[in-house]
Parts: sequence; structure tokens; C-alpha cells
Amino acid sequence: MLEHGDEARSLGGVEVGDGDGRHEEVDISTLLLRDAALLATFDDAGRELPGASLFARDGVIEAIGPAHELPAHADRVIDASNLVVLPGLVNTHHHFYQTLTRNVPAAQNAKLFDWLTTLYPIWARMDAEAIRVSTAVAIAELMLSGCTTASDHTYLWPNGARVDDQIAVARELGFRFHASRGSMSIGQSKGGLPPDSVVEDEDAILADCERVIGAYHDPARYAMTRIVLAPCSPFSVSDTLMRESVALARKHGVHSHTHLAETRDEEAFCLDRYGRRPVELAEDLGWTGSDVWHAHMVWPSADEVERLGATRTGVAHCPTSNMRLGSGIAPLRGLVDAGVRVGLGVDGSASNDGSHLLAEARQAMYLARVHEAPGAFDAREILRVATRGGAAVLGRDDIGSLAPGMAADFIGVRIDTLAMAGAAVHDPVAAVIFTQPATVDLNVIAGRVRVFHGALDVMDLERIIADQNRIARRLVAAS
Ligand SMILES: [Zn+2]
Repeated sequence: MLEHGDEARSLGGVEVGDGDGRHEEVDISTLLLRDAALLATFDDAGRELPGASLFARDGVIEAIGPAHELPAHADRVIDASNLVVLPGLVNTHHHFYQTLTRNVPAAQNAKLFDWLTTLYPIWARMDAEAIRVSTAVAIAELMLSGCTTASDHTYLWPNGARVDDQIAVARELGFRFHASRGSMSIGQSKGGLPPDSVVEDEDAILADCERVIGAYHDPARYAMTRIVLAPCSPFSVSDTLMRESVALARKHGVHSHTHLAETRDEEAFCLDRYGRRPVELAEDLGWTGSDVWHAHMVWPSADEVERLGATRTGVAHCPTSNMRLGSGIAPLRGLVDAGVRVGLGVDGSASNDGSHLLAEARQAMYLARVHEAPGAFDAREILRVATRGGAAVLGRDDIGSLAPGMAADFIGVRIDTLAMAGAAVHDPVAAVIFTQPATVDLNVIAGRVRVFHGALDVMDLERIIADQNRIARRLVAAS
């Protein structure tokens, strides 16, 4: 296990914390959050509790209620009287490494296929250090914007980089992480888009998938690390690999993830090459069901939406990325109403170009109103998608709401800030979405404080930013 301690020194470019606070925290087993201005549980009844407190032991919520009904003492006590407290948000689609290629001038105004062909050669220069540093940057942004659990989808592993590099960093930072062993196998010499240097042999991909499942996948309740098998798209690997990948995932009880139905171009390409629409292709390949989720799903037909719902297939809705690349608007209302498991994703930072999950929830609500109707989603509904929805997409019933027996993953947003002035007094929960999205004041994962008073407790941000900028310059300068 790479949980803490000396392992931090072996993470290369990633320096995490000064050690003292982290070592102290390892021993903390109980946490008392006292007197929240409002605690929104997002439980089945949608209870919102003014003045509530929360007691957690060993990373799990033990009780929620008035402070006088809870234990009076804990290893750590936090005053939440100026906070609205919510379940931690869940991010269901990202490409952490793309934080290294945000705002690259040549890709600023491109649509998906051109954007990919511009960026592939740059990504091909990454190495293990680049993966570690960009993972830390993405997790820092996610934590500061209210995220407590994320899945990442890295599908190219150049120059010795491995998914192990990401997992080591996430564990060091105490972040709940569903790591994808992503892949591509069809390079330019086989008619694909990516350079051959970033694609892998399919037997080697499957062998490494099996290795990382054995090494890291934790199926237990409250798991901090799970593995996902995730070919980049049905167009960047063979049909055989798509079938064998999902079969291997099912053999080991892990979930499967890929990109699907993102653009009109993809639909045309799919019809031309396979004579089928993207969702039909996924169905043929065995890629639907309660253990599969697809990023984007911008262009499903009405029939396909119904079938995705009937099979409880999951979708990561990524509105900012879809707008940034001009891909279209996913039918969020229809997907949710059909029973599709839907969560939010900030998507990779080369098509967003940020990892602010609260901001993504705000975008999702507004875009649904543009696409469907002025009242298509309200603030609580979109927060439900961002919390419980994301948990369902990742196949978890231990995160996404606040109740005894759930993981102690929660966030606190200050209600006494400039942005909240005149807003939180009416409805602090909706104000989290309607006002300018903030850095959260508090982020607790598995009962351990990760953000306190708006600052990351767990890493040396200045150093990470400097490392990131050095690597980003190197990657792009060579192009
Ligand atoms: Zn993506």
C-alpha cells in the first residue's frame, strides 16, 4: 500500500504536504462536524437539516442530527456554522493528463477530430513524471471544487508511464479514485488517428488490465481504489478487443468505460464503416448494462435513449467539453427520465479547460434549460446528478448521500462570502449552483480533511504548479 509516509518521497515530481499534518491525520479515527448552517443529505427523502451535526468514525458516517444527540468529543472537531454541507461530488469522466495541454493555441478552436490530431503528438511526449504531476493538478482542482471521488480515463501510456503512477498519487492525496486502464491499438499505420507511438499491442493491453485489477482493484464497500477497463473508443481499438475487454471486466467484477456518440462526425463515420449507429455498435459489442458507462452520449436516438435506460447503462454528461468542441447538447432530461444512470464529468482539461465540478453542475443545469425548457432542471436536481447520479454511474451505493452507514465524504461551502451575499439567505443549497461557483471551504474524504478553510491540506501547490508549467512547456515546445 502507498498510503502515506516515506512513499511520498518516491513520487518524483509530486511533493505532497509537509508530512506532519498527514502523519497526524492518519491517527484520527473520529470526526465531528458541528452545527452546519444547513446540512443537505440528498438522501431518499431529500432531507435538509438546519443546524445539524455529523459524527464519523473510521471514514464512515455514524450519526447525523442535533449536536446534543451526538458524541460531544472527537479526534477532530470542525465548526460548520458558516457552511452549507453537501455530499461530496462525483466526477465520472476526466483525462487528468490533459491538464498539461490546456489552452494549446493550435487546439483552441478545433472540433474533435482535428483537436485530437493536433494533440496526439504532444501527448506522445509524456512520461511517468508528466502523468504523476498532471494527476496531482487535476485532483487538486477537483478537491477544491467539491469533488471527493473521480474516475479518470487515461488511454495512452507513452515512455514508461503506467496507471500505477496515477494510483500512487491519488492514494497519497487521500482521493477516492476509479482509475481506468485505458487503451488504444489502432494507430496511423492501421488507418487510425493517433501516431503509432501511443498505441499498444492488444494482448499486452489485456495482460496489463489483468495485472492492475489484481494489484489494485478493491471491490469492498468504502473502497478508495477501483479499476475500470476503458478502451478509448470503439474506433481506436479492434472489435475483438472491445469484446474481450468487457468480458475480462465482467470476469473480475470491474466496470467498463469508453467514449460514445460524442459528435455527428462519429455517427457518420460509424454508419459508413459499420452500417450501424454508435449505440447499436456498442450493443453489438456487449457494451451496455449496469456495469458500463459511456462518456458524452450527445447523439442517441429516442429509441436508443429508451434502450440505454432499460439496460441501466451509464452516461457521463460533459456539457462544457461538448460546448468547447461544438459537439452538441446531450439530451439530459430524456436520459435521466429513461432510467439511464447519469453523472457529470468535467472531461479532459484540453477540452474544458478546467476541472471545476461545481461549475460543471451549473453549466449542466443551464444547458439543459437552453436545450429542453426553461425549467428543465433545478439546482437540487442537478446536484443530485452530481452526487448520487455520479455514484450510481461508478456502481457505488456507499457515496453520494449523507446518512449513517455512508462514507464520510462531504463538502462545505461558505455562505458568508461576497458571491453568496443576498443569495444564501433565501436558499443556501440552490445558491451553491446559482451563484458564481466557489472554491469549497471544506472537503472531507473518508473522514479525513482534504480542504480546510479553502486551502488544500495535502500538497505543496506552488511546487506542483511549477512542475506542471515546466512539463507543459516542454511538451508543446517540441511541436
Ligand atoms: Zn473524454
